[in-house]
Amino acid sequence: MAERSAIAQDYPAADWHALPSEAVAELLSTSEHGLSPESVAARLARYGPNQLPEAPPPSDLELILHQFRSPLVLILMAAGVATIVLGKYVDTAVIAAVLVINATVGFIQERRAERAARALMRLLTPHARVVRNGQERDIESVDLVPGDVVLLESGMRVPADLRLTSTTALQIDESLLTGESIPVAKQAGVLAAEVPATDRTNLAYLGTIVVSGRGRGYVVATGERTQLGAIAASLRDTGTTANPLEIRLKRFSRVIGIAVGIAAAIAFVIGVLLGESPTDMFLVAVALAVASIPEGLPIAFTITLALGVQRMARRNAIIRRLPAVETLGSTTVIGSDKTGTLTENRMTVQQIWANGRHFQVAAGENLTGELLADGIPTPLVEQPTVAQLLITAILTNEAEVYRTHDGFATQGDPTEAALLVAAARLGLEPEQVRDRYDLLTDLPFEPERQYSASVRLHDGAAWLFVKGAPERILAMCDAQARDDGLAPLDLGEVHAALDAMAADGLRVLGFASVRLPHPPPTEMPLPELRGLHFLGLAGMMDPPRPGVREAIANCRDAGIRVIMITGDHAVTARAIGAQLGLAGRDALVVTGTQLAAMSDAELDEVVRRASIFARVSPDQKLRIVQALRRRGEVVAVTGDGVNDAPALRAADIGIAMGKSGTDVAREASSMILADDNFVSIVAAVEEGRITFDNLRNVTFFLVSTGAATVLAILTALTLRWPIPFLPTQLIWLNVVTNGLQDVALAFEPGERGVLRRRPRPRTEGLLSRTLWERTIVAGIVMGIGTLAMFWWELNQSGSLTQAQTVALTTMVIFQMFQVGNSRSERLSVFQKSPFSNPFLFIATTAALLIHIAALYFPPTQFVLRVEPISLDAWLRIIPVAATIIVAMEIHKLIRRPRPDRPGSGGRRFVPAAVGSPGPAQTG
Ligand code: ATP
Repeated sequence: MAERSAIAQDYPAADWHALPSEAVAELLSTSEHGLSPESVAARLARYGPNQLPEAPPPSDLELILHQFRSPLVLILMAAGVATIVLGKYVDTAVIAAVLVINATVGFIQERRAERAARALMRLLTPHARVVRNGQERDIESVDLVPGDVVLLESGMRVPADLRLTSTTALQIDESLLTGESIPVAKQAGVLAAEVPATDRTNLAYLGTIVVSGRGRGYVVATGERTQLGAIAASLRDTGTTANPLEIRLKRFSRVIGIAVGIAAAIAFVIGVLLGESPTDMFLVAVALAVASIPEGLPIAFTITLALGVQRMARRNAIIRRLPAVETLGSTTVIGSDKTGTLTENRMTVQQIWANGRHFQVAAGENLTGELLADGIPTPLVEQPTVAQLLITAILTNEAEVYRTHDGFATQGDPTEAALLVAAARLGLEPEQVRDRYDLLTDLPFEPERQYSASVRLHDGAAWLFVKGAPERILAMCDAQARDDGLAPLDLGEVHAALDAMAADGLRVLGFASVRLPHPPPTEMPLPELRGLHFLGLAGMMDPPRPGVREAIANCRDAGIRVIMITGDHAVTARAIGAQLGLAGRDALVVTGTQLAAMSDAELDEVVRRASIFARVSPDQKLRIVQALRRRGEVVAVTGDGVNDAPALRAADIGIAMGKSGTDVAREASSMILADDNFVSIVAAVEEGRITFDNLRNVTFFLVSTGAATVLAILTALTLRWPIPFLPTQLIWLNVVTNGLQDVALAFEPGERGVLRRRPRPRTEGLLSRTLWERTIVAGIVMGIGTLAMFWWELNQSGSLTQAQTVALTTMVIFQMFQVGNSRSERLSVFQKSPFSNPFLFIATTAALLIHIAALYFPPTQFVLRVEPISLDAWLRIIPVAATIIVAMEIHKLIRRPRPDRPGSGGRRFVPAAVGSPGPAQTG
């Protein structure tokens, strides 16, 4: 490998863990400001992309062979062999042609599906945060080169092998490499050269997971040269779980295969008993088998699913596991995060409460603004408690704010960025403040902890600063800072202020600080922070995303309950919930604290009623998901953090965020929202329903027409009539005329009302009871209609060829009408414009024209043993075939599901306030 030798030559056997970070930087010709673009380009050319060799796509030969593995094709092949033995070479040729056509179409489709899947996978390429040319940025991990400076934070997969140069409470799960699932604490110090690879705590390895904390390091190896590369195998979970739809299709094929076998055997026995020659009867049995096998089903399925996945991707829902397409359609509950999914995650600090007063932050142009007390501007210097609160906000903050030529830009967590912007607007420059307070140690924000902290040295004294969820911060405080000194903590006063802000839907953070005794600590005084002085609250606005209110209303119509599962405060959650129409202003809100005290049985009862869960931890989210599933709900749930992974896996559909989510959450999910937006979940549900409808329609079409031919043949046999179809004619029906139309059904656009139905029961099979019933009705009508035409023609003309041609043509026309009937399970064929699915219109016309041509074209006349039929015959065929429309319309009328109107579903949206046991707790 060129790359391998280049690195080996450049950095001969470097023991990165035994070198101080400066030496590492020197060896790699880099610095803490990162590489320059030129240097990156040169290194990329020299060392190659940072990726492990992928499994090559299946070869053409493998794909072609794969086409012959379906049980249905195997039956066809057996039939082909039988015709050779019997010397019926024309039939052999036809069957061979069918097999070739079938394999070619299947091959082309699978190649396309695979290419589409790869393209989708490309949307999911892993990213890495790097510092290059002194600037932090997000790049695709494949572009990493040795010497790059990489930043790590919780939830990320380590994108290359790194020598860590700084860490903050960094814990990494290395089970991928070591099998040991307890996370390893990492640090940046130098280790002895002889420390074995598994104990090199200052290295982070490609593919391992950052469980918590932050880190920074130099890339020392990329791609194959990494530890993971050395193990060689790509261990990543690529979502290859067995696909229930495939299983269902296999099972369905098996049932059909057995039915075919039995029908053929019955036909054979009846025929022989009635005195037919066994050879002829064998051919009839073969014909029957060919007639009843829905050869088109696997191809139509592949196309339908591929189209569904593509349509979802266009609506920002990227499917990672194929079964999700089907499950989405039967979703009954969506559990959604609030911040970023229901809301925009664009925060602006609007209010500050400190020194017993409410202040407003008025934003001006760019980074200017004013602090208002009762609407009157007041300079920050006159409000020392507010100033101390803002300093705390800056010092416990990992975000950045920059001035740009047309305003400003921020980087990092929106909550933190909003605080920096507010401080800058009120005249406190984050950079200057950070320079004045030297960092001793810090604790970055993690959702489980609900706060962030830092210890800083200022004027020779050490200070501890914290910001976070107000309840958490208040629990650390024993006094309250006021402009005129310390006062005892007045919890009543603080909670009143907090509730007032939260009731406006503001996201509220609390702040505290304290001067630490001498000597300054070098580590965070954990686990319990105590004795702090409470500074006050900041409330920020995070507007609801446009379209979410409507999407929630659509869910209600669709029989889907939406519940909010948030880490935020109960009052804020309720206010936002009310704005979004998720629940009433006095809705029952269950908090994490209440939830922790509930037994599973109590929780099962509560999840039925509550629509908002607040201050919930990730493990409680898992409990909620489990409780809902115990109730038989089909649950889709969103998540973004590392610890959300179990809940995402436990749900029927785990949904991760494409923009803000962590790698871990994404890998645990079955669907990813490219735009983090709740609206896209509802779009995906809609597409899921459409896709399932199409699968169902194709199946109904193929099975009902197959049943009709089988019925016609069996009846003719029993009545001792000649057989109405020859084997080649059946193949013609099944593969050519039907084959064109079944694939086109996959392109059926969704019905307008799909989101107004109730969810399909999870246990319902590919065909519902109603559809099985309809299949039988259709089979009988088409079978009898065809036989009647056959009998009439035989008696009139006395020519078997004429009669068989008429029977065949009748079936072709029946199919044309039946494909129209199959476009919708519930809508009348007259409610659907023939042009709304142009593919189907073209396919149907083509099938008809090809069939007519075949009647006149000598070679097809010879192979199919058909001849032109009279105009009279056509005039009889068309009205007879039209009876299938009448029959299906009547059946649709009788068996029409209750009207698709909002709330008509059996599962109703339960207003959360019903039975609410009084006002919600505020945590
Ligand atoms: P959701 O779960 O709907 O996304 P959330 O963002 O409020 O909501 P978390 O990110 O789990 O949930 O945050 C939990 C709580 O921690 C927040 O409500 C807030 O009080 C506090 N918090 C959030 N971000 C920070 C931060 N950067 N620093 C300090 N505290 C924070």
